[in-house]
Amino acid sequence: MYKAFLVKYGEIGLKGSNRHIFENALRDRVQEKLAPLGSYKVVREQGRIFVECPEGYDYEDTVEALGQVFGVSGFCPVEVIETTEWDTVVQAVCEFVEKTYEKKNFTFKVAAKRADKHYPIESPVICAKLGEALLERFPELSVDVHSPQEVITVEIRNRAYVYSVALLGPGGMPVGTAGKAMLLLSGGIDSPVAGYMISKRGVQIDATYFHAPPYTSERAKEKVVDLARIISRYTGPIRLHVVNFTDIQLAIYEKCPHEELTIIMRRYMMRIAEHFAKENDCLGLITGESIGQVASQTMQSLLTTNAVCELPVFRPLIGMDKVEIVEIAKKIGSFETSILPFEDCCTIFVAKHPVTKPILSAIEKSETLLSEVIEELVKQAIETTETIEVRA
Ligand code: ATP
Ligand code: MG
Repeated sequence: MYKAFLVKYGEIGLKGSNRHIFENALRDRVQEKLAPLGSYKVVREQGRIFVECPEGYDYEDTVEALGQVFGVSGFCPVEVIETTEWDTVVQAVCEFVEKTYEKKNFTFKVAAKRADKHYPIESPVICAKLGEALLERFPELSVDVHSPQEVITVEIRNRAYVYSVALLGPGGMPVGTAGKAMLLLSGGIDSPVAGYMISKRGVQIDATYFHAPPYTSERAKEKVVDLARIISRYTGPIRLHVVNFTDIQLAIYEKCPHEELTIIMRRYMMRIAEHFAKENDCLGLITGESIGQVASQTMQSLLTTNAVCELPVFRPLIGMDKVEIVEIAKKIGSFETSILPFEDCCTIFVAKHPVTKPILSAIEKSETLLSEVIEELVKQAIETTETIEVRA
């Protein structure tokens, strides 16, 4: 029955003279998100984004889509009242309650927002008068200003809007307002969540995945593509770089001390991901690391892997427990895919007793054992990388 949605945003409102940049980006992201669902009209309107829905649109799909746009703090399905002429507003608000609620026996209050400050009736008076009109029309209603069951909100703008349902958006900032970063995306639980969290702050995401055929299967790669597609519901399209890492891993396995395999491998992942990051104008790297989760994520290990990077490395999960990460993974819909049992290149070449306190200089020394082959192998890995455009 609703023909439109009012989209609310939080932090953007604080952006001073750059505010219009953020508002335009949010309007564009909402428009792009809804485009596959039909021809919605999305316009900026005095501190709100207004979405007009096409004839016969799908309510559930629209709600799901709006709930996935970063920058949206909340949104309300609204009834539009084309004129702000008082009697028409009163009539329309009564009609709204008539249509929306089957039983009219709840407690309510009216909330009014008067964006048009020239409007002759002030907000408290609007509330009082509308409350009165509703009580008169529906005698079973009762007013409770402190904890009402329903809040009927009326916004007076160039038109008037009435709504009583408020849905939560994901918050954050519109994607595209904060540059781009390169996510190291594996098939695990953590890295998709890390990508989601950085993107939530307005960052566009590219991704790099390291696979090791034939030790890792085509299905393992498909799983990572699926994960990229799931987070792209929020982040928008992702360019996924699939790097064949087999020969590098074999060389490390052959030449370096086995307890250092994982840490050296992680350092080459960071180097190669950084190469693609720079090539694609990314301003940072993103990983799903969390302090102490595994041997390669102790403070000493993080220092050692971090040492190969020039770009900042963003680790949004750094202080989180696994249960907290899993909770977000479930909320954003990546968990079920992440736990599918496919091998990961990190898990096939592992030592029984990996170093947990690597010393940077020692690791650098071990890497010299690769000096005859590694430059060529990295070059080959970069040249044979496959790039996949992933979109939801
Ligand atoms: P995840 O759940 O994200 O796989 P994890 O707990 O398995 O993380 P590690 O295997 O130590 O942890 O990996 C740490 C981080 O390194 C990952 O979060 C990811 O950002 C990156 N990473 C690990 N393996 C790969 C891979 N095969 N391709 C791309 N990035 C990877
Ligand atoms: Mg992993």
